[in-house]
Amino acid sequence: MTSSARPHLNRRLTEFGTTIFAEMSALAVATGSINLGQGFPDTDGPEEIREAAVRALRDGRGNQYPPGPGIPELRTAIAAHQQRRYGLAHDPDTEVLVTAGATEAIAASLLALVEPGDEVVALEPYYDSYAASIAMAGGRRVPVTLRPHGGSFRLDLDELRAAVTDRTRLLLINTPHNPTGTVLTRAELAAVAELAVERDLLVVTDEVYEHLVFDGAEHLPLATFPGMRERTVSIGSAGKTFSFTGWKVGWVTGSRELVGAVRSVKQFLTYVSSGPFQYAVAEALALPDSYFEEFRLGMLARRDILAEGLTAAGFEVFRPAGTYFVTTDIRPLGEKDGFAFCRALPERAGVVAIPNAVFYDDREAGAPFVRFAFCKREEVLREAVERLRGM
Ligand SMILES: *Cc1c(COP(=O)(O)O)cnc(C)c1O
Repeated sequence: MTSSARPHLNRRLTEFGTTIFAEMSALAVATGSINLGQGFPDTDGPEEIREAAVRALRDGRGNQYPPGPGIPELRTAIAAHQQRRYGLAHDPDTEVLVTAGATEAIAASLLALVEPGDEVVALEPYYDSYAASIAMAGGRRVPVTLRPHGGSFRLDLDELRAAVTDRTRLLLINTPHNPTGTVLTRAELAAVAELAVERDLLVVTDEVYEHLVFDGAEHLPLATFPGMRERTVSIGSAGKTFSFTGWKVGWVTGSRELVGAVRSVKQFLTYVSSGPFQYAVAEALALPDSYFEEFRLGMLARRDILAEGLTAAGFEVFRPAGTYFVTTDIRPLGEKDGFAFCRALPERAGVVAIPNAVFYDDREAGAPFVRFAFCKREEVLREAVERLRGM
C-alpha cells in the first residue's frame, strides 16, 4: 500500500487500488490466525503431477518460450477433457488457448471482446478480478444480484432480462459461483442461453470450479446449450482443478473466431507462461475419473466440517452446492457489518474470513455476508471451527 502509487493510477482503476486479501492475509500473519480468507489449498495436488513438472523441467521441455497458444500436448488434453466430460468438440489448434491462469483468460477475453462504453452484465457478488478487467477494457459493469432464497443464493431471471439493454455486449457468468457456492440449474442456464441468443450477446463463462459440485448438483457448461457454442468463451483452471494455484495454467475454449480474438490480446499480456507446468497439466487432465471423484469427495467432507461447525457457532450457513467456499450470514450472531466483523475476528477468534461486501457494487446488499474457504486440511478446519465456537 504505497502512498505515492495511488494518484498515478489511471481513473478507470482508482477504485481497485488494494485488495482485501492483502489486508486480511497480513492480519492473519500478525495475529497467528487460521487463514480461511484467500482460496488456495494448503496441500499440493497429486504427487505424480508434481513429478511430471520436475521431469519436464529436467528434460528441457518448456524452459524456453512455449508456443503462443500453448503446447500442443496440453491443447489436445484440454480438447479431450471437454469432449469426454461434456461432449464438446474443439479443434486443439484453433479453438483452445492456454493462458496464465483463469485470471488472464478473463482479462484477455474482456479486453478482446468489449468496446469502450459497452455494458457487461455480471452476476453479483462477483469474483474480484471481473470488475477490474471490465474497467481495463473500458466497459461498464452492470451487476445482477444473486439473492438469498431458501438456503442458497439464486439468480432472478427477470432481473437478468431487465439488465440487458441495447448497449449490452456481453454476459459474464460464473458457475459454480464464487463466493456464494451457487450452481446454476439446467433451467436457469437454459434461460441465460435463450436470452443471449435472443439479444445476440457474447458470453464469457468462468467454470474454474467445474469439478467441485455436491449434493447431486450438476455442472453444465453454457457452451452445451443451443446456439451457445459460437457465442461463448469458456474458461477453466488447473490451479483449481488440480490444486496447483501457483502454476498459473488456465485455458479458454470456444469458436475459432472468439478464441482467435482472445489470443490476439493474450499474446501482448504475457505472450506465454508456465512452460514446464503445461506438460504436467496435460498429464493431469488425462488422470482417470477416480482422481476427479476423490478430489470432489475430499472437498465435500471438508465442506461438511466447516458448514456444520459454522452452524454450531451460530452463523446462518448457505451450504454451497459447488466451489470451495461457504458464505454465511452473521446476523444471527447479532452482527450486521461484515467488514467490521472480519476485521475483529482474528483478535476475537483467531480466524480470518472475507467480507462478501467487497464482491458487491451494492455494499448494503452484501453487508451481512462473510465468506470462509474450506480448501484446507481437515485438522485445520476442525481447529478453526473449535475457535469460532468458543467465540
Ligand atoms: C480462483 C479463481 C479464478 C482465477 O483462477 P487462476 O487460474 O488462479 O487465475 C477465476 N475465477 C474464479 C471464480 C476463481 O475463484
